Amino acid sequence: MKINIAIDGPSAAGKSTIAKSLAKQLNYIHLDTGAMYRSTAYKAVCSQISLEDENALVEMLKNTDITLTPEGKVFLDGEDVSSSIRTDQISLAASSVSRHPLVRSELVARQQKMAEKKGFIMDGRDIGTVVLKDAEVKIFMTASAEARAKRRYEQDKKLGLPTTDVETIAKEIAQRDYQDTHRAASPLVKAEDAVEIDTSDMTIEEVVNAILALCEPYLKEEHA
Ligand code: C5P
Repeated sequence: MKINIAIDGPSAAGKSTIAKSLAKQLNYIHLDTGAMYRSTAYKAVCSQISLEDENALVEMLKNTDITLTPEGKVFLDGEDVSSSIRTDQISLAASSVSRHPLVRSELVARQQKMAEKKGFIMDGRDIGTVVLKDAEVKIFMTASAEARAKRRYEQDKKLGLPTTDVETIAKEIAQRDYQDTHRAASPLVKAEDAVEIDTSDMTIEEVVNAILALCEPYLKEEHA
């Protein structure tokens, strides 16, 4: 039997990078739920739908296909939006659309359907508390504001996205953290049964190994 792994935490704490690496090692599927909020925001911006208009956003979602491929690509209504959804503008817009309870329930339902079987590593803000409440392993991943801003800067450069300076990125991250932790609907909060990992001074390998150690008792059963 496979297990499910939930990874939550603030922006740029390393969730996606770690989830990808774990998925490779365990031969599991990684689902980046943030990409679904980003795609929703991207389509709303392109269609000039107000990010405040919950009903219009939900109507839009009824005719919206968001496909996440195992290779990490994101397709919105058939169009590859993998890098267009990573800009600072869309990051903040994603945080705005994610405040609406009806937008959340639509996307959460899709996420739960995708992960009906076990063998998923999902990263987001509400995975351990809402989406996969019964995940066997739950991680709450954090890192200092400084480490997160630096990482996002390096990542933007690598993706060839227009980069601002680290300080501007730090401000955008702080604004998003504030919005994500203070919203009424499923705010970012550590699940009671989640293990907190501060990745500020850890290498990717160290974080992956720490999570694998938490999975080990279940994986032993899996291979028994
Ligand atoms: O994870 P990422 O930074 O790509 O997510 C973009 C935004 O989508 C977050 O700032 C948050 O507002 C929202 N989000 C969410 N719930 C999730 C995943 C992302 O509200 N499960």
